Amino acid sequence: MRFATLTRQPDDPLLRIIGQHAADPRTNKIDLGVGVFRDEEGRTPVMTAVKAAEARLLTEQPSKSYLGPEGDIGFVRALATLVLGDAVAAERVVGLQTPGGTGALRLAAELLARSGVERIWIGSPSWANHAPLFRQAGVEPAMIPCFDLNTQSFDLDGFLTGLGEAGAGDAVLLHGCCHNPIGIDPDAAGWHAIASRVAERGLLPVVDLAYQGLGDGFDVDAQGARTILAAVPEALLAYSCDKNFGLYRERTGALFAVTPDRDSGATVFSNLLALARANWSMPPDHGAAIVRIILEDESLTAEWREELETMRQRLESLRAALAAGGRIGTIDLAAVAHGKGMFATLPLSPTQVEWLRDRHAIYMAGSGRINIAGFNMAAVQTFHEALRDMVA
Ligand code: PMP
Repeated sequence: MRFATLTRQPDDPLLRIIGQHAADPRTNKIDLGVGVFRDEEGRTPVMTAVKAAEARLLTEQPSKSYLGPEGDIGFVRALATLVLGDAVAAERVVGLQTPGGTGALRLAAELLARSGVERIWIGSPSWANHAPLFRQAGVEPAMIPCFDLNTQSFDLDGFLTGLGEAGAGDAVLLHGCCHNPIGIDPDAAGWHAIASRVAERGLLPVVDLAYQGLGDGFDVDAQGARTILAAVPEALLAYSCDKNFGLYRERTGALFAVTPDRDSGATVFSNLLALARANWSMPPDHGAAIVRIILEDESLTAEWREELETMRQRLESLRAALAAGGRIGTIDLAAVAHGKGMFATLPLSPTQVEWLRDRHAIYMAGSGRINIAGFNMAAVQTFHEALRDMVA
């Protein structure tokens, strides 16, 4: 009876919140929990460029025969050009398609473990899946507390000091843009300071870029990643297309490795292929084929970029509306304007989060993380009033 040795695992707290929200009969309920983009009507629509690419795929795809553990190479190449620009010489980069950004991170973690990396330094708090994912693959996460929720700021000095304890050959995880769950990224000077520290300590950076285009703009959002990758001999970049192409369930991502030269790149690539083969054999094709069709077609690319920019602007204006609430009790909403992307984490206690849910039908993660896209302009006002009621 081997299964009798297992212990019951806790439910995913965010899934529990989704269930509670669905069961709540109140019509004015607000869902700030799940991390997907929503429009003003609360929908997560398929992007029109994606629909057009899917239509093309339906009529033109010649075969569904296997591709290989590297996935759709046209997709990988187009994405590399788009994301990396000329930050790193092409012969130093290898890449393969993965099942989402999570698949890319998992492969990154296994490659690190295979390379003898024992520890990865992660600014805290981070995406809830980061620490378990690396630990599961045999790389121990070391957390560096470096965010102040009251001022909504990233403590660059604290982070750099934390990295001062890292040993040569340790890895460090960096959110490329639109930090999840805080929404606060380093500025350009901060990225350069981090790049210098990473290079001087001989650390291997793993950049997680899951929200490109939802922060300051598509190219600006890649600058941090480019700064880091250009500064070191070896690095990994885990990329997700699930948010910026709205492909979530299609599980579309890629892992890129920066290596010192073409020869070491070939060795790294062969290891990535072997790891992919032992995990999922080959990634699912549909989402990557859609992204490739869009990126290979100028007019579809322009259409997608425009839609993405509309999404970005919606987040920006909601964030500004939220920040206009100013200081409510000890909560300085104005500071939320410093952030970018879909998320912010408010300095709310679990009791306050619960109170907002019970009293005002406002649902968010127990940590106080909110999905900015879960608001519409009316809901922002409701949220301000609920906070005022809470501190009254
Ligand atoms: N990294 C971060 C920071 C994320 O927030 C997410 C998704 N929530 C991912 C990676 C994984 O993305 P995907 O859905 O493509 O696996």
